[in-house]
Amino acid sequence: MISALNTLHQWGLKTFDQSPFLIAGPCSAESREQVLATAQAIRHLPVSLFRAGVWKPRTLPETFAGMGNIALSWLQEAKAETGLPIAIEIDHPAHLEEALQADIDVFWIGARTTVNPFAVEELASAFSGVDKPLLIKNPITPDLGAWVAAVDRLRNRGIKKLGVILRGFVNRHPSKWRYEPEWDMVLKFRQIFPDLPYLCDPSHIAGNASMIFDICQQALDLNFHGLMIETHFNPGKALSDAQQQLTPIALEDLLDRLILKNPDFAADTDRNELGRLRQKIDHIDQKLLENLAARMELVQQVGLLKKTKELPVVQPARWDHVLNRVRDFARERGLSEQFLEDIFNRIHQESIRKQQ
Ligand code: PEP
Ligand code: MN
Repeated sequence: MISALNTLHQWGLKTFDQSPFLIAGPCSAESREQVLATAQAIRHLPVSLFRAGVWKPRTLPETFAGMGNIALSWLQEAKAETGLPIAIEIDHPAHLEEALQADIDVFWIGARTTVNPFAVEELASAFSGVDKPLLIKNPITPDLGAWVAAVDRLRNRGIKKLGVILRGFVNRHPSKWRYEPEWDMVLKFRQIFPDLPYLCDPSHIAGNASMIFDICQQALDLNFHGLMIETHFNPGKALSDAQQQLTPIALEDLLDRLILKNPDFAADTDRNELGRLRQKIDHIDQKLLENLAARMELVQQVGLLKKTKELPVVQPARWDHVLNRVRDFARERGLSEQFLEDIFNRIHQESIRKQQ
C-alpha cells in the first residue's frame, strides 16, 4: 500500500519521520506581529504547513471576520522568515485568485462551504487547473451524502491533489465536544475514498485546549495521517476561537505525548520505547539544526560589523572565552571535553569562513 504520507510527500509537501503530517497556526491571522511571532515559535517543530484564516466564515455577523487581503502579505512574510509553507481557507473563487497571487501553497474548503453544492461547484471550477493541494473539510451538518458529493464535484473537475479534514459536525444531542467527531461516519466515508490523505482538526471538535490531545490520539489510532491544530502565541488574546488554541509550548508537549501506531509513520509498529525515543531525538536534532542556522546568521552580522570597524576576523581572546565556557559546561554535565571542543572548533572554522 502506498501510504497517504507518501502522497503528501509526492505533492511536494514536507513530511517528517515518526510524526503525523502537521498543520499548525492560529485560527485567524490577526496582525503582522501575531502571525510572525506564532510562526517563529513553532518553526522548530515538525510542522509541514503554517495555517491561518484570512477570511473567516463566522456564524454570528458581529464577530471578527478576518483581516482579508492584508493578512496574505503577513503570511508571505512568515513563509520567507521561517521557510514554512502556508495553508489557508478559501470559500469563494475570489479568495483563490488573491491567494494564488500571494503564492499560498495549500488550500482548504471550510465546513460551512462544503455543505453548499453551488459554492463547491464554483470553487471546483475555479480550482481546476491549479496544481496545488486542496483539502476539504467535512460539511458542518452530519450529512455523509453532502460530504461524498463535494469530493465527487472536485474530482469531476480533475482536481487530483485532494485531501480530507475531519473537523466535526454540529451536535444533535448534548455533547462534551463543540462539534461531534462522528467517527462512524468517517469510517463509512473512508470506505468510499480509501486512498485520500486524512487529517483531523481536533481544535474545532474539542472547542477547548484541554481536550485536544484525546482527539488527536483517537484520530491517529484510527489511522488518520495528519492533524490540523490551532496554535496561537497568546491564545488568551485571540480574536476568534480563543478557548481552543494551543500555545506553541503546549503544542510541543502534545506532540511529545502522542503515540503513533500506524505503520505509515514508521517501520516499527509497536508502541515501543525505541520509536518514542527516536521521535524525541528527531525533535532535538531539529532544534540543534535550527540553532546552528541561527548562530551562523548572527556570525554573518558580526562579520559585517567587524568589516565596518576594521577589526580582524579572528580574535583569539574571544574564542578562548567561548572555549572556556564549553569546557566548564562539559565538566558540569559529565560530557567529554574533547568531544565538545572538537564540535566547537569545527563551528569556529565555519564561522570564520562565513565572515571572509
Ligand atoms: C478554521 O479552520 O478556522 C475554520 C473556520 O474551520 P471550519 O470550516 O472547520 O469551521
Ligand atoms: Mn477556528
